[in-house]
Amino acid sequence: MTWDYSDMGKWSWKKHPRGAVIPKAGTAHDYKTGGWRSQRPILDKEKCINCFFCFIYCPDTAIIVKDEDMKGFDLKHCKGCGICAHECPKDAITMVDEIKAKQQDESASA
Ligand code: SF4
Ligand code: SF4
Repeated sequence: MTWDYSDMGKWSWKKHPRGAVIPKAGTAHDYKTGGWRSQRPILDKEKCINCFFCFIYCPDTAIIVKDEDMKGFDLKHCKGCGICAHECPKDAITMVDEIKAKQQDESASA
């Protein structure tokens, strides 16, 4: 069965089928869970030893690794759960208030 969900954003609740339906693999990427975040992870690169515990534990695959180097966070998908900070053996990740972090971003880019 092929399920056309291309206009799902316009559906009323009546059109949604009962139960959980995952029409194909990888659709979670379409959900920008970063919008839920109230806390933001901040990386202290000086402390990071590239053990990738954060990558393994992150439930949103929001840890960016490139060339075997931990590069930071995909903030479109990081929902601020803090698991990476909890699991990091070097305390290289700190969770900060999202609103304050946004305000700092805005004043830095102004
Ligand atoms: S705070 Fe949670 S979702 Fe965000 S990068 Fe860390 S483990 Fe992943
Ligand atoms: S868990 Fe900590 S030390 Fe390990 S890669 Fe992530 S930030 Fe770096």
